[in-house]
Amino acid sequence: MLGGSGKAEGKRVALVGGVLIDGTGKDPLENSVVVTNAAVIEEVGRSDKVKLPAGCHIFDVSGKTVMPGMMDLHVHLSLGDEPIVPRGGVMCGLEQSLPMLGIQVFRRARRTLEMGFTTVRDVGDWGYATVALRDAIAGGIVEGPRVLSSGQMITATGGHADLMPLWLERTDDVTNVADGVDGVLKAVRRQVKMHVDWIKFFATGGVMDSYDEQEFTDEEMATLINESHSKGRRVCTHAVQSRGMLAAVKAGVDTVEHGSYLTEEITELMIEKGIYFVPTLYAPFSLVERGSEFGLPQAYVEKARPLLKPHFESFRLAHQAGVKIALGTDAGYTPCPHGTNAFELELMVDNGMSEMESIVAATRTAAEALGLAEKLGTIAQGKWADLIVVDGNPLEEIKTLQREEKIALVMKEGSIFMNRLPD
Ligand SMILES: [Zn+2]
Repeated sequence: MLGGSGKAEGKRVALVGGVLIDGTGKDPLENSVVVTNAAVIEEVGRSDKVKLPAGCHIFDVSGKTVMPGMMDLHVHLSLGDEPIVPRGGVMCGLEQSLPMLGIQVFRRARRTLEMGFTTVRDVGDWGYATVALRDAIAGGIVEGPRVLSSGQMITATGGHADLMPLWLERTDDVTNVADGVDGVLKAVRRQVKMHVDWIKFFATGGVMDSYDEQEFTDEEMATLINESHSKGRRVCTHAVQSRGMLAAVKAGVDTVEHGSYLTEEITELMIEKGIYFVPTLYAPFSLVERGSEFGLPQAYVEKARPLLKPHFESFRLAHQAGVKIALGTDAGYTPCPHGTNAFELELMVDNGMSEMESIVAATRTAAEALGLAEKLGTIAQGKWADLIVVDGNPLEEIKTLQREEKIALVMKEGSIFMNRLPD
């Protein structure tokens, strides 16, 4: 039934005999049963303790693992597949029409869902394509993961996402470029007007450009974050270097993205303020290790190379200090193709997390960072039935989650979107 919708339609489904990883970090439960009823999880337990309701559809998942649908908190669905065009030229994706972008974001999101990611947060699109996608998926027009959209990224003049050269004819009224207190207020309100879920801004420059240590002033950041919060939006920030990252953390950002040069001062503040870290280890890794394969000039690969070690060390520092870490990849931006998101778990394990901790980062902690932990991220009675069945045990081999043929079933809010299980 690959590609079928398998709508829940009030039917009960029982997954019987699998190893249950519930997303809380607790030891796995062998020989488990999970019963879903329409969009929610009705019962969870050991198979000798749970009485299966009459008339439910039973899947035998012995030898397999049941776990929550994974979440990627850092994707760019507007980007991907095209060769990377470095700054100074037209940014990848921007040469396409908006309707084509809309088609592309749908295809990439669908691929991500099939690979076991039932929720994604898009942290910067073109033309609000992911706002439309979110609504189309939520409204049942197309199938895909749950999408939380940040719309367009807010950047300062000359900042990381100010992509158009000044000599191009343009007005100064570019939607995502903002300067000064009034400028950032307007930028936030424009995003809210377009019904974004999150606000994304740049605290620092990026790997590929000027290594700007701090993109917005302290005052601009505080205004941007306070205004977003007052409009009920959480805020994520791209932060590579320490200075701008510290300023964003002091100003009360909700999630720090990339965090290549974390310091002890920053990690302590993040813990104190309950700020989440989305490390995107995949981003610098792919840039350095696979950049050339994806058509990136060698000079750019070499520019990114010195970043890799400190970025990984930052992750280790945050993990050891006890910062809350949620999974994010940067899928679409660098050579991280959509659908390969689970590679991030392998990199987290390579850099000191246990397999279980990496799964918690992809499930419970990710749901907490999104403010959705009451409904998502763990498998428990009453939660939304977002779960996947994996052929094998990712606690023994974390790479299992990257293998398409091992993702045996994907369920989102009780609907089965992908199923390789024998009937
Ligand atoms: Zn990004």
